[in-house]
Amino acid sequence: MAFEHEIEMDLSKQIPGLCDFGVECFLSGEEMEIGEASYAENGINVILSDKISYNRSPPYVQHELCKNVHYDILSLPTASVIITFYEEPYSVLLRTVHSVLNTAPSAILKEIILVDDFSSRRDLKGKLGYYVKTRLSSKVKLFRMRRQSGLVRARLAGAQRATGSVLVFLDAHCECTSGWLQPLLSRIHQSRSSVVVPLIDVINQKTFEYESDGYGFDIGGFTLDGHFDWHDVPERERERQRRECKDEIEICPTYSPTMAGGLFAISRDYFWEIGSYDEQMDGWGGENLEMSFRIWMCGGTLETIPCSRIGHIFREFHPYSFPNDKDTHGINTVRMAKVWMDDYQELLYMNRPDLRNHPDVGDVTHRKVLRDKLKCKSFEWYMQNIYPEKFIPTRNVQNYGRISAIEDDRFCFDDLQQNIDEPYNLGVYSCYKHDIAPSQLFSYTYNKVLRTERSCATIDDRRSTKYIVMIPCNSDDEVTDTWVHTSFNQFKHEQTGLCIDRKNLDKNLLHAAVCDSLSKTQKWEFQKTKKQSI
Ligand code: UDP
Ligand code: MN
Repeated sequence: MAFEHEIEMDLSKQIPGLCDFGVECFLSGEEMEIGEASYAENGINVILSDKISYNRSPPYVQHELCKNVHYDILSLPTASVIITFYEEPYSVLLRTVHSVLNTAPSAILKEIILVDDFSSRRDLKGKLGYYVKTRLSSKVKLFRMRRQSGLVRARLAGAQRATGSVLVFLDAHCECTSGWLQPLLSRIHQSRSSVVVPLIDVINQKTFEYESDGYGFDIGGFTLDGHFDWHDVPERERERQRRECKDEIEICPTYSPTMAGGLFAISRDYFWEIGSYDEQMDGWGGENLEMSFRIWMCGGTLETIPCSRIGHIFREFHPYSFPNDKDTHGINTVRMAKVWMDDYQELLYMNRPDLRNHPDVGDVTHRKVLRDKLKCKSFEWYMQNIYPEKFIPTRNVQNYGRISAIEDDRFCFDDLQQNIDEPYNLGVYSCYKHDIAPSQLFSYTYNKVLRTERSCATIDDRRSTKYIVMIPCNSDDEVTDTWVHTSFNQFKHEQTGLCIDRKNLDKNLLHAAVCDSLSKTQKWEFQKTKKQSI
């Protein structure tokens, strides 16, 4: 058999013990070069992956306290693990499947459902089918979509075939560590409306190192341009955990406002009850925030379970595309926002003007009907109760919008399209006349903080030119830098007494100078626009 021969060839490439326990490893010489080329193409070093055993030993990453928890396996619900894949490197996918088989106790692993979202890679066709049939437990089932359907519909197809009591969704480039499944199932067994997420570690896409620094972890949030992001566990949640788990808060289920979406477990009945997924979401993206908001607003909880740890390869880019090159993330995000975000939708459009009146969004009536049927709470309730730390540029502020030089439209505060996840210099640019451009949206809070959604203004006083720098705001909203908007329209920094000035602009960057009430270059005002009434 041709496949038999190919599979033997694959196995003979593997070096026993390589990268065991998640240590990093490297290729050398010519292999290093083709490894790098495969990385450029796939976002993963496939040549290295091919040399690592499908069964490499997982690292020891569990918290000490987890080892003392006893699970009565026979009383736990069973799990169907659903893995959808599209153009996934063959050895990466198989390592994912093997790692589930190696770590999940067979009494609770009902099945693994692989859903091929109509990949074109040759080895994902006959060879994969043959491998599953001849080398893997009969618990592993492989289905193929008849056309590329996107993550959501591929997962729904998997869920429809699942027979276990709990659905566990995994991406196709994961490695599970010992004991990951029991705590997820146990929590759902205790509380059926808990949707649970493992602690997601990083597997390095170039070295396959299982990177786990300690036991700390982040929870999920979102940005107003519609993306998922990570945050520290807030003090508010730590207090809840102290009440709930006493002195074991490090391993306590941790409420998370959103989830990344790739890896989670949910009771199968509850999944269907609460509206599964929006099946009209195409391609990739947006479905994770949709599900997160829906779960919280419709009576469930979303929790990170620290005793369950799974590694995931985070790629820097997606090695695949979608039919007609559509921005499926953006379109799906609008579908989500129309159903779940109420008035807050406007903030999404303010940050993503291209998504306002997007022609490809389609109809969301049936999802609104679902929201009514489930009697879900409002987005305002979600923000107040589940994610009160989130700064909303239009709430609790003295003013927001464009900040322009007094009566001079050539100068508005602007991020100058710098990377806003890192500290960046505040600049000026011609004021955009109509909509508020996202790069020019600023807020001035009641606590006298001058900020954007994520960054707060401070002064870099290390150099002779004291640039105004926007730095990530403290998550606990601890106020460090405060600004007075003076009767002369200056922004005066209370800690240094300096004022924001646009004199002698260098590369359009603002700096702080000694306050001078007569200086024309220190006068700033919030410009009012029609669209500002949210
Ligand atoms: N996927 C899919 N169909 C698609 C796109 C992606 O089934 O059209 C799969 C993909 O193979 C992966 C999962 O969906 O297993 C999530 O995608 P990815 O890992 O690329 O997303 P990320 O982890 O980068 O958010
Ligand atoms: Mn992924």
